Amino acid sequence: MGGMGGIAEMPGVTDSEALATLHRVFGYETFRGEQAEIIEHVVAGGDAVVLMPTGGGKSLCYQIPSLVRPGTGIVVSPLIALMQDQVDALRALGVRAGFMNSTQDFGERRVVEAEFLSGELDLLYLAPERLRLDSTLDLLSRGKIAVFAIDEAHCVSQWGHDFRPDYLSLSLLGERWPDVPRIALTATATDATHKEITQRLHMPTARHFVASFDRPNIQYRIVPKADPKKQLLGFLREEHAGDAGIVYCLSRKSVESTAEFLSRNGIEAVPYHAGLDSGTRAAHQSRFLREDGLIVVATIAFGMGIDKPDVRFVAHLDLPKSVEGYYQETGRAGRDGMASTAWMAYGLNDVIQQRKMIQSSEGDEAFRRRAAAHLESMLALCETAQCRRSQLLAYFGQDPDQAGCGNCDTCLTPPETWDGTVAAQKVLSTVVRLQRERGQKFGAVQIVDILMGKRTGKVIQFDHDQLSVFGIGEDLSEGEWRGVVRQLLAQGLLAVEGEYGTLVLTEASGTVLRRERDVPLRKEPKKPASAKSAGSSSGRGERKAKAAVAELPETLVPAFEALRAWRAEQAREQGVPAYVIFHDATLREIVTVWPTSVTELGGIGGVGEKKLVTYGEGVLEVLGGLGGPAGAVPSPSPAGDTDPGADHWPEMDAEPEPEDWI
Ligand code: ADP
Ligand code: ZN
Repeated sequence: MGGMGGIAEMPGVTDSEALATLHRVFGYETFRGEQAEIIEHVVAGGDAVVLMPTGGGKSLCYQIPSLVRPGTGIVVSPLIALMQDQVDALRALGVRAGFMNSTQDFGERRVVEAEFLSGELDLLYLAPERLRLDSTLDLLSRGKIAVFAIDEAHCVSQWGHDFRPDYLSLSLLGERWPDVPRIALTATATDATHKEITQRLHMPTARHFVASFDRPNIQYRIVPKADPKKQLLGFLREEHAGDAGIVYCLSRKSVESTAEFLSRNGIEAVPYHAGLDSGTRAAHQSRFLREDGLIVVATIAFGMGIDKPDVRFVAHLDLPKSVEGYYQETGRAGRDGMASTAWMAYGLNDVIQQRKMIQSSEGDEAFRRRAAAHLESMLALCETAQCRRSQLLAYFGQDPDQAGCGNCDTCLTPPETWDGTVAAQKVLSTVVRLQRERGQKFGAVQIVDILMGKRTGKVIQFDHDQLSVFGIGEDLSEGEWRGVVRQLLAQGLLAVEGEYGTLVLTEASGTVLRRERDVPLRKEPKKPASAKSAGSSSGRGERKAKAAVAELPETLVPAFEALRAWRAEQAREQGVPAYVIFHDATLREIVTVWPTSVTELGGIGGVGEKKLVTYGEGVLEVLGGLGGPAGAVPSPSPAGDTDPGADHWPEMDAEPEPEDWI
């Protein structure tokens, strides 16, 4: 591999050369989406900016040019903690890969340097802070470079949560090595980030490749929040028993308490947030990558660059701060193209809390405006009665399927709407009366208590049972009233003010009070139902890897599990994540095809030359021990795709106290 000269000058060769490498090294049949075009362009020496969702297959876009072009591919990545795994995965494929970062001692680094200089490396991973050192630049000048790959390129964006100042110095690569092609890659889809990458990395002549951001295998669902931890537990037990997944919470405190809650209920979960010491964080991340079926409960500090292919669900217990953040986080599910779930619990407190946080933030006016705009888009997604996926794609400027996707909650169970005009007027009049007649402002709890005619301590204390609106809302339940308030907030017909989150009118409120407009509202489900994925079997007790085997005939499940157990043992022996041995998708294809010879096994997706040599006999032995394929049928090939950008805030220590305002 590597060191095949003259490729760029010979048109026509690149294609077959790249394709041969795809077959031989990676064991894949065909390129996906725009991979072929991107690779051809870069192999021929062109610069490229690539926007592709998580799981879209970005890595091959620089790995294959690194193998095909003479010299070493230099991969710039901010993810030091993951470099070892990335390099291990490549070595398992027979690729000569190495990395240089601060986790190595001098001796280890010298070995890698020597390998690079003598042309023995196909790929070299570097952190940006190391790359900009004179000593590193000097080293690179003395060797041969095939391509510069700038991974997680959105880290140049100063607006983003992932900003890394060292990324800015990467603009010098083009000046210093004008003849070496550069490829910048990100899963962040927004136009602004896209432009920033192009400008800040000085890549004006780069060709741009923007893939579809749809992730058809991810089922998007947003449920009304009632008792979030319990709801999560129900979701996990009913649909994802034994699966690996990520649960996102806003604050460190809720990360800790949620992880503990799950563990107490017999579901293995570990916490991850920036407040934990780096040793614990690394250990938890490593367990997540290596073990089958572990859950990480985390703040947004977790996840970038995690390329575990079999994350079966991503759950949000709190509202993300932007659609970009939500999409990036949920996109970590299902990179292997198999059925996965993005599940979120969302409620009134989320809206109030985030509005309060924006108001009390220390950012300037521009920051607050941006944050508010992000929140509006997120709320629109939560409250929509339309297809969630269509809304997401439209947000990223892509054409959605007008008919809906058939794999989100609103498509599976279209929400009922009702005419909430009168209910809205009742809420707004209560706010008006408190203010006009009493000069008071109150939060949502008090407003709902007044409407429902509840004589609570606080209602009596303030004589609110004397208001003419007292008890005019006995027709709706408390949950329904909270739903009304939440939707009014989301629609901008009501606003939140000050540190207590008191409710106040907006300019638009008048149009409702004067009956100049209708207020259609989504119906609050009486009992939060869980929308099952179409066709998937249900029922508790069906533990273990259910989603992963969802598309397998039942008779093949034992064989799949046997291969998984074999894989776990290999992974343990070698100290690498299980997916480095084989992906679930590969194991699934193996049991479906049931190869009886090494040659047949070599035809399976994900089984390249090196893996065939290393594991071929082992796999055939496992299959042999099982007898034969009972009722094998061909399974549909996995469809893979997506994930975009970060634009969120730093994590919090603890969220503001819940609804305790006056
Ligand atoms: P990204 O970096 O864009 O998130 P990866 O490069 O990790 O995505 O690829 C996602 C998954 O898709 C990986 O499991 C990878 O092996 C697989 N994959 C990528 N390209 C192909 C292809 N052409 N054929 C089959 N599988 C592929
Ligand atoms: Zn849909």
